[in-house]
Amino acid sequence: MWHILGAGSLGTLWATRLARAGVPVQLLLRDSARLHSYQQAGGLTLIEQGQAQHYPIAAQTVADTQPIQRLLLACKAYDAAPAVAQLAHRLAPGADILLLQNGLGSQDEVARAAPQARCIFASSTEGAFRQADFQVVFAGHGHTWLGDPQNMQPPAWLADLRQAGIAHDWSLDILSRLWRKLALNCAINPLTVLHDCRNGELREHPTQLACLSSELVELLQHCGHSHAAEGLHDDVLRVIQATALNYSSMHQDVRQGRRTEIAYLLGYACQAAQRHRLPLPHLYALHTQLLAHLDSRGLPSH
Ligand code: NAP
Repeated sequence: MWHILGAGSLGTLWATRLARAGVPVQLLLRDSARLHSYQQAGGLTLIEQGQAQHYPIAAQTVADTQPIQRLLLACKAYDAAPAVAQLAHRLAPGADILLLQNGLGSQDEVARAAPQARCIFASSTEGAFRQADFQVVFAGHGHTWLGDPQNMQPPAWLADLRQAGIAHDWSLDILSRLWRKLALNCAINPLTVLHDCRNGELREHPTQLACLSSELVELLQHCGHSHAAEGLHDDVLRVIQATALNYSSMHQDVRQGRRTEIAYLLGYACQAAQRHRLPLPHLYALHTQLLAHLDSRGLPSH
């Protein structure tokens, strides 16, 4: 049985694919009001290539008492540890938690909140968004890497992912993957917010991109992820080109007045740089400007 916390974009994408492959799934919703809305909707809807399919997946609230053996945590990074703390007493001995959060920092917070569980980190290039409550559009096919920095042994339940057609690989260096993705995010997303532009328009700011990339390379190297630093600047330019017409996730969050995951992205990078006493002026200035921008829009800095 998979317990899936968060019936948002990724939670729905995973729950519906697992359920239709015959894997038992139970959704965990935040409270009885949310459960009531879910029951009114009668299940989750996944929209793929314009086709909507409805899945009446079982759901309960986090306050339920059923023990949890396998937890897919599909909430935002800032909600991850508080959500797991609420569920800690339900986790069976030897339970696994699969963490879908973007960025870094929330994984350690979750591990502290549930020391009895095995935490498996994920980094995904899949894309989905909520069209309405409990209705999610599968917007971009991609790949998910999973790994556990403490234990190289892949879990047996990867077979469920294969059965569900969820493209994935077991990674022996998941931290490097997460660091690389974080570095790409730090070089691109904050600038799209500050310049209020699509990813492609950052091509008009080559010096800023080059300075940030070179500081991020230094940071990755000092944090022991030299491999993740290789060719970073070229990769930043490649991503900007490949996603030229898109608005970054941080840009979308800010435009829609939603809390961002800044503390687990640029904030995490700056904290790591300070720990290593690295003088990275462009990165720190970017962080300060982004915090001021969020503050001016009434959005939290954490
Ligand atoms: P999302 O659509 O906002 O969904 C998050 C869900 O978590 C919401 O349904 C929310 O419930 C639920 N939640 C939060 N706290 C909870 C709690 N205590 N108990 C029960 N449910 C709780 O977020 P998302 O886009 O799926 O993103 C999840 C993570 O994946 C983020 O770190 C994101 O950066 C990462 N990611 C997303 C994508 C993507 O394409 N969406 C791609 C790659 C990575 P309510 O509905 O009640 O608010």
